[in-house]
Amino acid sequence: MKLVIKYGGTSISEAGRIRAVAQHVSSLSRHHQIIIVCSATSETTDDLIGISESIKKENKSKAGHLVSKITDRHRKLAKEIVKKPDVRKKLLARLDEDFAELAALIDGMILLGEVTPRSMDYLISFGERLSISLVSAAINDSGKKSVPLTGKDAGIVTDSNFGQSKPLMDTTRLKVSKIVGALLSGKTIPVVGGFAGADQHGHVTTFGRGGSDYSATIIGSCIKADEIWLMSDVDGLMTADPKIVKNAKLLREVSYVEAVEMALFGAKQIHPRTFEPLLTKKIPMKIKNSFNTENEGTLVTASVSQSSKNTVKCVSSVKNNGLIDIQGGSMVGTPGTAGSIFATLAKAGINVMMISQNPSESSITIVVKNADLDRAVSALEIELLGKIIKKLDITTNVAIIALIGSGMRGTVGVASRVFGAVEKHGVNVSMITQGSSELNLAFVVKNSDTGAAVRALHDAFDLDKIN
Ligand code: ASP
Ligand code: MG
Repeated sequence: MKLVIKYGGTSISEAGRIRAVAQHVSSLSRHHQIIIVCSATSETTDDLIGISESIKKENKSKAGHLVSKITDRHRKLAKEIVKKPDVRKKLLARLDEDFAELAALIDGMILLGEVTPRSMDYLISFGERLSISLVSAAINDSGKKSVPLTGKDAGIVTDSNFGQSKPLMDTTRLKVSKIVGALLSGKTIPVVGGFAGADQHGHVTTFGRGGSDYSATIIGSCIKADEIWLMSDVDGLMTADPKIVKNAKLLREVSYVEAVEMALFGAKQIHPRTFEPLLTKKIPMKIKNSFNTENEGTLVTASVSQSSKNTVKCVSSVKNNGLIDIQGGSMVGTPGTAGSIFATLAKAGINVMMISQNPSESSITIVVKNADLDRAVSALEIELLGKIIKKLDITTNVAIIALIGSGMRGTVGVASRVFGAVEKHGVNVSMITQGSSELNLAFVVKNSDTGAAVRALHDAFDLDKIN
């Protein structure tokens, strides 16, 4: 089999774990062709973002402190994971080159006193640049041939939308299949840095937070992988967050479309575009635990076998959002009202998580993150209050509860079971949405009702007996 295996940060953040990964990969490589994709080690991307904040605030010493934290962390790991002196020497030399380039970049940014989207992507791509050297050296140390490659080295070409780039798939396919294909033919295990690629001018770009998952599926689709494994510190996708529901169960099988919904809301965060490259190629994905490799994890496929077509598969929740009820008599029957509201929010850079409008058209309710609430409200006030909008009602600290499962489609009585169950627990519902795909039914409650609502639904749909 041709396998793309992606490791999340926690799976490669301690020496023992990196060595375990290297051993697992070496033994798999006896029977399979393996391509590794890595995230940055835990906290590194956050530290790099911290450096950019310090540069903006002209706090040079804070930036310096964070750089030392990153270099110390990687140097220490390098010394611990590699035993063979020649491999270790090569690894430390390679890391030193990267540290020097990082320091030069930061000096340049400090000198200019600005952080542009382009320099930001270059900066935050260093997390993966460092982690690939560690993982690849550990595989070398275990006796197998391996080389580290950044996303750019591997041939991932993107548009120039820094911070949120998208791959140019045709160019990327040509380059990645050639570069990675040659390594595989030479029995070398490529360790590719996730999260980043480069635009057509060679400038480093990133896919947005959590983007290494996306890198794995981009590469998998380019080389026509047989399977893609996402390895992290959880067993797979669950029926609910085990911190909220004690008897939450691992889901054995879900479809791409269900996984997309779960990724947006769930405890296991997956980059939202991750499944896009798989849709046409229909490559199966497994979500597995790198600390519990015996466990089969969750299989994600294009279509799901009949036996696992449960009505509802998962109840998830996202806390700390704000609800804005936008009202106005002149909104009724006025084409373009919704257009102006959403254009105003888009201009202010606000992501809207939920939308609902009742047929009387006298109000539109939206949900945004608590952190975006102030900016959303002031943008609407400045642009539209007194014009099409008469009044804004705001509720902070609300949670979105979402039920996900393709079996809900066309099943009579789902809504009554849902709202019957939450009603029994005295939970008030302040907004409801369901797309016509009927894949996801979501509603809004007070933050403090989250646990009660999630548990009530998990019980009502017998999700503890799902397998
Ligand atoms: N290192 C990046 C992040 O923390 C990408 C990833 O981990 O997938 O967002
Ligand atoms: Mg991640």
